[in-house]
Amino acid sequence: MVSRVIPVEPFDLVLFGATGDLAYRKILPGLFHRFQVEQMPADARVIGAARTEMTTEGFRDHVAQAVRDAVGDDTEVLKALPAFLECLDYVPVDAMGDGGWDDLGDKLRDNVVRAFYLSVGPRFFGPIAGALAKRGLATPESRIVVEKPFGHDLASAKALNADLRAAFREDQIYRIDHYLGKETVQNLMALRFANSLWEPLWNSTHIDHVQITVAESLGVEGRGEYYDQSGAMRDMVQNHLMQLLCLTAMEPPSKFAPTAVRDEKVKVIHALEPVPLSDIARGQYRARDGGDSYTDHAGDPRSNTESFIAMKVKVGNWRWAGTPFYLRTGKKLRNRVSEIAIVFRDPPHMIFPKMEHRRGNALVIRLQPDEGITLRTTIKDPGPGGMRLTEVSLDMTFAEALGEEGRAQDAYERLIMDVIRGNQTLFMRGDEVEAAWEWADPIIAEWQKEDARPPSPYDAGGSGPEDSLMLLHRDGRRWREIGG
Ligand code: NAD
Repeated sequence: MVSRVIPVEPFDLVLFGATGDLAYRKILPGLFHRFQVEQMPADARVIGAARTEMTTEGFRDHVAQAVRDAVGDDTEVLKALPAFLECLDYVPVDAMGDGGWDDLGDKLRDNVVRAFYLSVGPRFFGPIAGALAKRGLATPESRIVVEKPFGHDLASAKALNADLRAAFREDQIYRIDHYLGKETVQNLMALRFANSLWEPLWNSTHIDHVQITVAESLGVEGRGEYYDQSGAMRDMVQNHLMQLLCLTAMEPPSKFAPTAVRDEKVKVIHALEPVPLSDIARGQYRARDGGDSYTDHAGDPRSNTESFIAMKVKVGNWRWAGTPFYLRTGKKLRNRVSEIAIVFRDPPHMIFPKMEHRRGNALVIRLQPDEGITLRTTIKDPGPGGMRLTEVSLDMTFAEALGEEGRAQDAYERLIMDVIRGNQTLFMRGDEVEAAWEWADPIIAEWQKEDARPPSPYDAGGSGPEDSLMLLHRDGRRWREIGG
């Protein structure tokens, strides 16, 4: 298949936190992939910046290892590694002090795209943005990219926005939610707005409910103490699940452009109704078969932080009145699976014999483990024996349907190239993040009250607490199997 990769302009990308875990696992291997397919030009440069004392040679060795870990022994792909390493530079910089900034400034070129990627904790966002502005390294065209978490509540998100906006305009700020970089998530928009088939059905007249699941099989190992300050609501719901909800529920934007798309997304968040505690199930995993419990890692044996949450969310507008969105996410569940399932209403009048275990039409947009789209359809059960019905899935797995080009380009790869192209469509705008916290904060505040109900225990490797099942059961519905 002929490559459709369009090279981006030459750039200087300064990667703060270049020696950290995220840079090692995602950002640097992602850049290598873009270089290897010739999207990143050979005269682009990646300048690592971190507190660690290291030479450029040392940094190149470090990145070579990161790339080998990510690529494995694909010698054909690795042929591009030496040339990629030539694009790398390194300068030790103390984000909180004076050291290193002049050296960094000396390395930056004029007349190429300039981007600063802050792969560091949020407490560094303000100081780094301020230093870049004060020292004249941030030009009116340069871009700044920040990682999650973007605040832990509305007040802290507002403070981060104020810090960034003191040094950069909103159209220079790229807040990453890597879920938006996933191929299938963008396909959701293509599916909805490039086909005439779905949009007439995309409303409460035809859709019974929507299920959004992001299930992880791993626990909080290693990140326990950090996670315990956050919990599933802050770590997953306020950002990733909210983004998936917005893209599913939003009105068609007038064009596929940053302002138009983000305006529609933020309208969805503003339309969300407050969620009563009775519409939320919280859980915390406990050991099964000699495994470990959440509290083994949390740093507090009596922690009341949730590692699972399921909730019924209502979008209070004309399109969605009467069609709930059920959101569910958790750790140590049976399988690792992320999907959006659009479950359609039954036909108004059934002319065939009643079908056992009928689940009905569902359009499932799968993000993990393999990206693809499935349509559950009812057909005649083949063979003799009268008109019996059965359900089959029409399945399109992108990697199979599209060959090599269907390879799930890592979300980070796409998003970094979007930064260089100056396209903010798949990044969160400041008001969007604040609106999401405004919605989440009152819920979290309820859980922090003295008499709040603690999360219900659920077995590691299962499908979450009983309350989660009941949440749908009482509405006459049921969750899709996690990975089933
Ligand atoms: P990390 O602790 O592994 O790395 C932190 C980096 O920051 C290191 O390179 C360190 O040298 C640098 N640093 C620390 N103090 C500094 C200072 N004073 N001046 C300059 N550099 C300094 O962290 P990480 O896991 O790579 O995460 C980075 C950011 O990305 C965090 O905001 C994190 O929440 C976010 N994030 C991480 C992941 C992940 O999978 N690791 C996923 C999503 C988001």
